[in-house]
Amino acid sequence: MKKVPLLLLLLQFAHIAAAQETDYLMAAFEGDKKLMAKSGRAKSVVIDPGHGGPDYGIIKGQLNEKGVVLDIAKRIAALAGRGGFRASATRSGDHLMSFADRVNLSSKEEADIFLSLHVGNHQEIVIYVPLAAGPSEELKPYLAESGQHDYQLRTAELLKSMENALGKGFGRERVIAKPLPYSMLSRVGAAALLIELPSFDDASYSSELQAEIADAIYKGIENYEKLTAEKES
Ligand SMILES: [Zn+2]
Repeated sequence: MKKVPLLLLLLQFAHIAAAQETDYLMAAFEGDKKLMAKSGRAKSVVIDPGHGGPDYGIIKGQLNEKGVVLDIAKRIAALAGRGGFRASATRSGDHLMSFADRVNLSSKEEADIFLSLHVGNHQEIVIYVPLAAGPSEELKPYLAESGQHDYQLRTAELLKSMENALGKGFGRERVIAKPLPYSMLSRVGAAALLIELPSFDDASYSSELQAEIADAIYKGIENYEKLTAEKES
C-alpha cells in the first residue's frame, strides 16, 4: 500500500473505473463464491454499497457516490472471495434498495462481517460504529430487540482491525471513529460498521484510489479474521 495522503491526490484528474474492469471483478468474485460454497463454512462477508438507482448519494461533476461505492464494494468482494471468505454485496448493480432489504440480505447470507460504504463530506475516513462502548440508557430499549445486541464486542474488534488497516494505508490521523445512533446497522446481527470515505473535494477518486481503498478495507477484514481465529482456537 502506498502511503499517499488523500489530500495530495486532490489535483489528479478524477474518473470512475471503466465498467469493463468491474464486470471482470464481479465475474471473478462469482466464480470464487461457487468454489467456496462447495467447501465448509467460511466466514461470510457482506458489503453494502449505499444508495443506488434514482438515489445517487453525493454528486460532483462526473462522480456520484452510488457508483464509487459500488465499484469499491465489488473490489472488496472479489478480494474477499479470493481470500477464502464467502463474499456478497447487498446490491451488485445500480438499483434502489430499502434498508430492510439490505438487513434481510445480511441475515440470508448469515453475515459474520457487514460493511456499509458511503462517501461523506469530510476529509477523513469516518468509521461509524453502531455501538461503541456501553449504549446509553436512551438507546438500550431499541437495541434489546436489535441484531447488534449480541455483537457489540465483535463490532468493537472489527473497528480496531479496520482502524489499523485504514490507518496504515492512508495515515492514522485520517481515520476517525464515531458512534452511530440507532440506525439500519443496529439491526444487523454481525460485526458491522459503516465506512464513510473522504468527500469528492478532499480525495481524487480514480480506479487506482478506489483499488487502494478496497485493499485497505480488505486488510481490515483479514486483521479481524486473524483476531477472531486466535480467540476461537
Ligand atoms: Zn451515502
